[in-house]
Amino acid sequence: MKPILWCGLLLSFVVSLTDTIYPQQQPPQTPTVPAAVISDPTPDPTYPATMAWPDIVSHGAKMYSVIYIASGAGPHPTVLMLHGFPGNEKDLDLAHSIRRAGWNVLVPFYRGAWGSGGTFSFTHALEDARASIDFLRDPDNARKFRIDSSRIVLLGHSMGGFVAAYVTAHDPQVLAVAVITPGNLGPSSARRRASDPQFWEQWRDNSSRLVGTTPQQLMQEVDSDPAKWNYMNCVPLLKNRPVIVLEADDQNTSDNQELAKRLREAGDAQVAELHMHTDHSFSDHRIAMQAAVVNWLDAITPLGAVSQGLKASTTRTRVLLLGTGTPVPDPDRSGPATAIVVDDRAYLIDFGPGVVRRAEAAALGGVTAAEPGNLKVAFVTHLHSDHTAGYSDLILTGWTSGRTVPLEVYGPSGLQSMTEHILQAYRADIETRTNPDGNQRRFPDGWKVNAHEIKPGVIYKDEKVTVTAFATKHAMESYGYRFDTPDRSIVISGDTNPLDETIKACNGCDVLVHEAQPVELLAKMPESVQAFVAKYHTTTEQLAELAGKARPKLLVIYHTVSFPPGIAPPRLLPPKAGADALYASPEMLQKEIASRYSGKFVIGKDLDVY
Ligand SMILES: [Zn+2]
Ligand SMILES: [Zn+2]
Repeated sequence: MKPILWCGLLLSFVVSLTDTIYPQQQPPQTPTVPAAVISDPTPDPTYPATMAWPDIVSHGAKMYSVIYIASGAGPHPTVLMLHGFPGNEKDLDLAHSIRRAGWNVLVPFYRGAWGSGGTFSFTHALEDARASIDFLRDPDNARKFRIDSSRIVLLGHSMGGFVAAYVTAHDPQVLAVAVITPGNLGPSSARRRASDPQFWEQWRDNSSRLVGTTPQQLMQEVDSDPAKWNYMNCVPLLKNRPVIVLEADDQNTSDNQELAKRLREAGDAQVAELHMHTDHSFSDHRIAMQAAVVNWLDAITPLGAVSQGLKASTTRTRVLLLGTGTPVPDPDRSGPATAIVVDDRAYLIDFGPGVVRRAEAAALGGVTAAEPGNLKVAFVTHLHSDHTAGYSDLILTGWTSGRTVPLEVYGPSGLQSMTEHILQAYRADIETRTNPDGNQRRFPDGWKVNAHEIKPGVIYKDEKVTVTAFATKHAMESYGYRFDTPDRSIVISGDTNPLDETIKACNGCDVLVHEAQPVELLAKMPESVQAFVAKYHTTTEQLAELAGKARPKLLVIYHTVSFPPGIAPPRLLPPKAGADALYASPEMLQKEIASRYSGKFVIGKDLDVY
């Protein structure tokens, strides 16, 4: 799996976009036009590009749709493309370009539009987009149409842009959203009603193409809930995801610019904004517009790496990163948690906050062994909260998700006491779920935990794995773990100073998952932090040296302290530093390790599979 340079890609992309802001009245310079926009791919005789026209049921009515299926076995990431009002410009040329770039594209026609059943309203359009997402996530459809359900991106033009932004904002599993001159339905229609004498006539003309609505009804709909129909209110829900705003010279420009600005101000480091001097339909910028969208899609290296890893994997044993973070509440990095998956079993190491949600995401992405109800054996490296704040969730949600046997947990002394206290804290929950009315009364053992306090040596063995613990050096009793499975050996460091024990435990192992703290970032930290790291953690410099001796076939770096832009705690910021002063970008880590270590390594991200 290639090292991920996600933020760097986006940044350089944003920079390159400024080149494509065309001066007015001049012929467009040609932005980098990807091959997918202008040339046909080599046909794949086994899995050719094709199309289908499934009916999607939305609230009882049949929506017509077209799905363009990319060539190749897949599963392919998929774009849900939402047309405007009433949808005269359907952007099907864009759909073809996106498909040639390796994505499927689903184009539904809203209820009441273009022959689809039911009636049209803005609310119905939101519901129809959700029904289309459900369609893409249905396992039967995913198989039939070669869809990677873990990688869905929404794209919408004009009113469809509003729908795409709104539905993405309220569905955290959607990876990213592209909006092409999105109409801000509430404020924009209010403005035009007040200033444009042609307004009602234009809306009558447009809405007469739609079934079951009138301009008056549509205006009543947006007036009845102004907050809902203003996409600026979606900003807080979108700010952690990639968004591209494509603008034209039309009535939406100021809203579109404001949207991009507010996303940036909210700390979204993955906003791309591009203005083209063209009309609302991009009539004379079709190639430039498609190039922008396809380049942006190419730059997305999403959480859905799960599926990529699965595809590449031919081994029985896989390493699944469920959380690669630290105590920093970074929404892109859950608390430390790793699963070693052998066939249909998953063994968990650490259960930081977010572990159960990430496990479910991995299961939805194809690693079914990681389903929360299937997590039965866990190992904890040490009892710091960033590694254990998901413990109650693992115990209780694992139970309500289907685990019928006690959870087996192994870790340092103090684990039994922590376990007893958590169960005590949730006594009311456990009692009400197991009493004669309780929804778990038929599984009265699933909430129980057998906590095993360990010493170095072989601590666990079954027919799939042998687990050996070795003492590490951290602020409290702590262990690293080596897993030996039928086909691979994997070592996980947990939080620790660099140690000979880790080198010995790995000694040419297949995968070493190790923490690392970047030296460039540490230099900006207060001395007290530097001293703590020097005693209890590992710098990139030290890890490079350690890995040189441990010789893993693959080094996976995780648990790196970093404060992404916007979530830097002010008390740590150096004087006059910007909000991203304590952000350790993947490039920083990449540079620090690559300059000192020649072996294969990757910067781990949540949901990566190796
Ligand atoms: Zn930690
Ligand atoms: Zn720790």
